[in-house]
Amino acid sequence: MALTGIQIYKLLPKTKCGECGVPTCLAFAMSLAAGKAELAACPYVSEEAKAELADAAAPPIRPVEIGTGERKLKIGGETVLFRHEKTFVNRPGIAVLITDDMSDEAVNGRLERFKTLEFERVGLTLRADLVAVKSVSGDASKFEALAAKVKNKTDAGIILMTEDASVMEAGLKACGDRKPLMYAAKKENADAMAALSKEHGCPLAVRGNGLDEVSELTAKLTEDGLNDLVIDSGARAIRKALEDQIFIRRGALLKKYKPLGFPTITFPCEMTDDLVQESLIASMFVAKYGGIVVLSDLQGHCLFPLLLARMDIYTDPQRPMATSPGVYEVGGPNENSPVLVTCNFSLTYFIVSGEIETSRVPAWLVVVDTEGLSVLTAWAAGKFVGDAIGIFLKKCGIMEKVGHKKVVIPGYAAAIVGDLEEELGDWEVMVGPRESAHIPAYLKEWKA
Ligand code: SF4
Repeated sequence: MALTGIQIYKLLPKTKCGECGVPTCLAFAMSLAAGKAELAACPYVSEEAKAELADAAAPPIRPVEIGTGERKLKIGGETVLFRHEKTFVNRPGIAVLITDDMSDEAVNGRLERFKTLEFERVGLTLRADLVAVKSVSGDASKFEALAAKVKNKTDAGIILMTEDASVMEAGLKACGDRKPLMYAAKKENADAMAALSKEHGCPLAVRGNGLDEVSELTAKLTEDGLNDLVIDSGARAIRKALEDQIFIRRGALLKKYKPLGFPTITFPCEMTDDLVQESLIASMFVAKYGGIVVLSDLQGHCLFPLLLARMDIYTDPQRPMATSPGVYEVGGPNENSPVLVTCNFSLTYFIVSGEIETSRVPAWLVVVDTEGLSVLTAWAAGKFVGDAIGIFLKKCGIMEKVGHKKVVIPGYAAAIVGDLEEELGDWEVMVGPRESAHIPAYLKEWKA
C-alpha cells in the first residue's frame, strides 16, 4: 500500500531546510505521496527511512530496462497523465517485427533498414530501438537461429515473441545475455515463462484477455518475485486498445493500482495492413501511452515523422529545444563563403540552415549559445548581444576558416552592430534580413 503524505512526513528529518525545492518537509511529503517529487531530492533522509519510503517514492509505473550496453532501453517510470503537468520521462521504444517464416531477403531488408534509418535532429540521433523476433512456425531451432542472427547484426534491444516456453528457451539460449523482453506470459504458460524470466534475468511481458486477466497475472507474478513486467491488454481493435492504454495509465497514477503499474507494449502491426495507417496508429500510442510500439516494417517516410512526434512529446515543455553551439557547414562552404550568426533555439537553427540550403550558396552558420532562446528573446535577455557574440566568434574557430572579415547577423538584432564591431575590431558586421524566408535572395547578392 502506498503511504499517505502524513505517514511519509513522519519519516522525514523535519528540519525545513528547503533544499528539496519546497519550503517544508510536510510539503515535500505531500508531493512525494502524489508522485510529484523524488525521494532523492532530500539529501537528509536516513537509510532506514529510505527503505520504508521506497514504496511511496517509486514511480507509479515501474521503469523497466530492455537490452544491455549503450542501446539499453528504459521504458515506464512515468508519473503524469499529461505532458504539460511534468515531462514524460522515458520515450517509448519503437520496434520492428521479424518472423521466422519470412524469407532471408525480407529479414535482411528489415535489419538493414533498422540499422541505416537514422536521422540527425537537434543534435540527437533518432532511430528505432528494438527488433521483435517472433516465432510463427513453432520450430525452436528456427527461432534460435533467427534470434542469434538478430543478435549478431545489431546491438539494439530484442523482444522474443512466442507463447511456447520451450521455443522461448531456445531464443534465450541465442540471446539471453542481451536481456531481451520475453513476450509473453499468459494464463496458460505463466509459471513456465516466469521460471525462464527468473533464470535469465529478463523482463517479461504479460498478455491477458482484457485488463482483469492482465491484473490477475501481474499480481501473481509480482507475488512470485517478478517485478520487471510489461503489459499487453490483448486488444487489437484501435479504439479498445487506446481505451486500455488510458485505463492502465489512469489506474496506475490516479488509483495507485499496482497490478497495472507497468509500462505497456502495443502492436500497430496487428491492427492494419496499411503501413501509413500503421504509422498513424503508432503515433497515437506514442502520445498515449505505449511503452513499446511494434511496427511491421520500417520505411523512412513513415518512421521519420513518427520519431519526430516522439521527440516532440518526450522533450521537456518547460525547456526550449536547443542546438549545440558551434560552427555548422551548410552546403560545403570554403574560405570565401559568407558567415551567418544565429541563436541556438532549435527551430531558428533549422529554419535558417534550411533557407541557406535552399539558396544553394554554401555558408558557415555560427550558432551562439542563447540557452535555447530565439533571437529577439535572447537579445532582450542580454544573451544575444555584441560582446558575447564577438567573444564566441573569436573562440569558435570561424576566423581561421575564412579569408574575409565579414559576418552577417539577423535583421532583428541590428541594434547590436556597434557593440559587435567594437568587439571584433576590423571585421565588418552586416545586417541580414529580418525574415528567414529572405535569406536565399540575400545570399545570392552577398559578396566577400
Ligand atoms: S530537503 Fe529534506 S529535510 Fe530539507 S525541507 Fe526538504 S524534506 Fe525537509
